[in-house]
Amino acid sequence: MAKKYIVALDQGTSSSRAMLIDKAGTIRGTAQLSFKQHYPAPGWVEHDPLGILSSQLGALTNLLITHAVEPDEIESIGITNQRETTVVWNRETGEPLCNAIVWQCRRSAPLIEKLCADEQVVKRIVQTTGLVPDAYFSASKIAWILDNIPDARALAQAGKLAFGTIDSWLIWVLTHGKVHATDITNASRTMLFNIHSGSWDPWLCELFNIPMSMLPEVKPSSGYFGTTAHPNVVGGIPIQGVAGDQQAALFGQCCFEAGQAKNTYGTGCFLLMHTGSVACTSTNNLVTTVAASAPNTKHIEYALEGSVFMAGALIQWLRDELGLISSAAESETLARSVEDTAGVYVVPAFTGLGAPHWDAAARGAIVGLTRGAGRARIVRGALESLAYQVNDLIDAMQTDAAQPISVLNVDGGAAKNDFLMQFQSDISLLRLVRPESTESTALGAAYLAGLSTGFWKDVDELRSLRSSSREFVPDMTGEERKGLLVGWEEALNRVRTTEASRKQAPQKGRS
Ligand code: ADP
Repeated sequence: MAKKYIVALDQGTSSSRAMLIDKAGTIRGTAQLSFKQHYPAPGWVEHDPLGILSSQLGALTNLLITHAVEPDEIESIGITNQRETTVVWNRETGEPLCNAIVWQCRRSAPLIEKLCADEQVVKRIVQTTGLVPDAYFSASKIAWILDNIPDARALAQAGKLAFGTIDSWLIWVLTHGKVHATDITNASRTMLFNIHSGSWDPWLCELFNIPMSMLPEVKPSSGYFGTTAHPNVVGGIPIQGVAGDQQAALFGQCCFEAGQAKNTYGTGCFLLMHTGSVACTSTNNLVTTVAASAPNTKHIEYALEGSVFMAGALIQWLRDELGLISSAAESETLARSVEDTAGVYVVPAFTGLGAPHWDAAARGAIVGLTRGAGRARIVRGALESLAYQVNDLIDAMQTDAAQPISVLNVDGGAAKNDFLMQFQSDISLLRLVRPESTESTALGAAYLAGLSTGFWKDVDELRSLRSSSREFVPDMTGEERKGLLVGWEEALNRVRTTEASRKQAPQKGRS
């Protein structure tokens, strides 16, 4: 029977999905199952690795049953996953030692603080991994497990434990314990990986006291990982593509070359810019990460990455906490009902200001209120704040990469908002492309899997499959844009807490 489909497994933070993608790049079916989040202590977040597994395998089975897919119609599987989340399991029994420590979990922050007391250590971590040292990445999470779970250290030293991010855990189970591997994009988020040499770094493993025997084999994102052999799922299907969710989305948006960027407008925003074979060092606290590459790419490819904490979450806040809108979509109608915000700015620094500002103590504010500032102006100000935050990241990225972004590809729930997209284009002076299918993450995993077996010939074929639903081009006078950006900068200064901005604020007040 002819191979008709690639199956993409998209293992996310709140749910596991399986998708069926045909040769035209069209998503033919989706199945989704959520799983439980565990919050055992303040700031701690865990997932049960077996819960992740049953939701992911369940979604796969449901997909195949619902769409009456025969196993021999499936060419291969592509996997994409929540990044950094850490699983440690026993190689002999296949049992996880404890719950997975999720990327959001802060329990290992004290270890990072301790290590960061030495400036030389911080410098070397940044140089080697491209990451800003943080509990977010896997290294300190593995160390926590080894130091806190009974017998873990002894088992690790005896070579009996395996570490993996969620992709590795899924590959291990799907291949019935035959393959312990990860892909280079997921490896680059562990803070144990040298992104320049493309190998695990012995110095980092020693620093975090992690035996190298625990680490998976690192493979290119597009290529053979193993074949399914788990008794509860369809067997004999090769796993041919793997990438962390943001890198998969970059690939799914057909950003294959330096200067191409994508921004996902979800609960938060994730902006990634491909920088080709150059690992750019950021002077703005952006991270340098490995990008997923097509098969037979000679060099490691890189991307700069930055995120906005409050994006769609701000729109949820307007709806759920302030009751200013009844649905996220209503924000667009309201924003369009006024000409402008009349000087109202919303600074959503609910958990501090992220890159490139980095002011953890800053808190949110709505500034510039006058008697005429009604609900429409505040909602419009909130939408505009998403674009200003992304624009600040874009500016930082273009500076760090010493290269302009050629086009910004957009996806995520809030990318449906045409007002926001136009405003982003106006403020950032960029062409925005919103593809027909905004499921970039799953498409990226499928593309990686499909390219490696010739299901799709090359990246040009992938480009030809892509249809843009809409483009947005800048359409605002230079003067208006400049005035708005000055206003945003002043609004930021009202919430900043750093020494530099404290000095700046009164001067602005006097003038
Ligand atoms: P995630 O994957 O992070 O859960 P999604 O990509 O599903 O997020 O996007 C959901 C977010 O997008 C929500 O926070 C919601 O408030 C926001 N959102 C959805 N539709 C719109 C809209 N039309 N305008 C603005 N924000 C929207």
